[in-house]
Amino acid sequence: MTLKQLTGFLFIAGFLSPLNAQKRTEIIVPNLDNLITLKCDFHTHTVFSDGLVWPTIRIDEAYREGLDAISLTEHIEYRPHKKDIQADHNRSYEIASKKANDLGIILIQGSEITRPMAPGHFNAIFLNDSNPLEQQNYEDSFAEAKKQNAFFFWNHPGWDRQQPDTTLWWPEHTRLYDSGCMHGIEVANGYAYYPEAIDWCIEKNLTMIGTSDIHQPIQTDYDFSKGDHRTMTFVFAKERTPEGIREALDSGRTVAWYFDKIIGKQEIVYPFFEKSVQIEEIKRSDKGVTLAITNLTDIPISLKKTSHDPSLVYFRNYVLRPHTRHTLNIGFADNITGGDMNFEVENFLIGSGKGLNYTIRL
Ligand SMILES: [Zn+2]
Ligand SMILES: [Zn+2]
Repeated sequence: MTLKQLTGFLFIAGFLSPLNAQKRTEIIVPNLDNLITLKCDFHTHTVFSDGLVWPTIRIDEAYREGLDAISLTEHIEYRPHKKDIQADHNRSYEIASKKANDLGIILIQGSEITRPMAPGHFNAIFLNDSNPLEQQNYEDSFAEAKKQNAFFFWNHPGWDRQQPDTTLWWPEHTRLYDSGCMHGIEVANGYAYYPEAIDWCIEKNLTMIGTSDIHQPIQTDYDFSKGDHRTMTFVFAKERTPEGIREALDSGRTVAWYFDKIIGKQEIVYPFFEKSVQIEEIKRSDKGVTLAITNLTDIPISLKKTSHDPSLVYFRNYVLRPHTRHTLNIGFADNITGGDMNFEVENFLIGSGKGLNYTIRL
């Protein structure tokens, strides 16, 4: 083989190598009527702040895990690798853009405004230039992002390092909220979740966000072979575009997915649950009803009986395993022929410690 032939051979071998194959595991959760469910993580880091991976790796990870959109939200004020990685605040976004485009991942430019409490850490996303956010005072940093029409959310509001005892809302947060610099809050961040933030989002009409805030290679924190998934946000968008995501975020159409919990507002979680299960009546007699309930999603769904007619006999607790059809018998006693089967969907949260209530009319 001549050198030329050898080079050609290596080129072809490299090109056809199975190592170039891309694998993607889709996340199976329902769409809502006229809305697509986009799987998004708006809070990640790379070596351009205090993360430990190159920006393109975040795109590969997102693709493999079935995500639709991510943000690389490097800290503006904290860049421990800056001696080795000398760049401006837009660079990680620029580096990841081509790969995102190639793999069809929507990359939304963002930055993390990183301040002591209060106000703590905030992400500003949908930026077009992160550099002006480098400011002495946090107010100026927010003002620069606001000029770019950023979407702001408060990160890890109960982070132990900044709020060691309780998760508090400070006067600074009221000022940011009143001045249009707070549109959402992370109700879940990585392995932590903040019940107080759920209620703040409901009271103040803020968008609920779940993020990984991943710093290491993703598989360091999550064991995908065991079925783990990163903490993320489901965004219910009219279209799979950055504009579609922005419109849904502005309208508060999100839920956070944190371990087995779905966290969101009642008006979103209710239809999300209805689309997650298929309920069929199989058989009916004067003794009772047989229902088949199929969990159409990747998420185990935990049901807990709530107040009901005592002559209706059914489970106390029941877990609908993912992608499984469950046949359930509901007994009638005392000459009744129907009734309301009431239960709480314990892991579909619509308030702190409050699951979604649902009724099947029999
Ligand atoms: Zn942070
Ligand atoms: Zn962060």
